[in-house]
Amino acid sequence: MIIALALMTMSQATPQQWPQHSMDRPRPPVVNPAPPPGHAIVLFAGKDLSQWRSDADSSAAKWIVKDGYVEVKPGTGTMASARGFGDVQLHIEWATPAVARGEGQERGNSGIFLMGIYELQVLDSYQNDTYPDGQAGAIYGQNPPLVNPTRGPGQWQAYDVIFHRPRFKPDGSLDKPARMTVLLNGVLIQDNFELVGPTANRQQPPYRAHADKLPLKLQDHGNPTRFRNIWVRELE
Ligand code: MG
Repeated sequence: MIIALALMTMSQATPQQWPQHSMDRPRPPVVNPAPPPGHAIVLFAGKDLSQWRSDADSSAAKWIVKDGYVEVKPGTGTMASARGFGDVQLHIEWATPAVARGEGQERGNSGIFLMGIYELQVLDSYQNDTYPDGQAGAIYGQNPPLVNPTRGPGQWQAYDVIFHRPRFKPDGSLDKPARMTVLLNGVLIQDNFELVGPTANRQQPPYRAHADKLPLKLQDHGNPTRFRNIWVRELE
């Protein structure tokens, strides 16, 4: 009886809340689909870095804005969004330097850190070998992309990301891991991957409870990689 009741409760927790084909069901909001969608939060539209800060000291972001893009100014450090985000759809375009210099991790390296903690790798991975969990489209140090649809150096590429933040219990322990789905140039490369914790180099740190919203960060890895058309949709 108790088991049956528990099962009933569970099945009611993920229910069809509306009869099939109900006309009473709330309609999905109508949004202008032209990118960026009408209700998106535009973080960079090609002109200024008003939505960004230097991560180190929250001063004005110091990367170079030019011809509709922003380019990493090596040595100026990570750039962080002024506002924080949790569950999001993120669109961001990037291009590694047209003249490919360096090899492996030293060629066009940057990174997109969801919540400043979980890195989706940016790298020139066009005919440039490195460890698979560190190539473009990798959840850094955790999961290689399913395929490599990268374009060559200097060409614009697009990430479309669906990110669900981790959930923590009141005692700070992990309830649900973060999940990431990514399309690169329209091709699925991460399919609802469950992150094992924060991304890191040569280590696998465990989850530690953090705020529900944290800034998006872009990495200064010493290479003049470019970004443009950055927008997010909040999913919570
Ligand atoms: Mg990186």
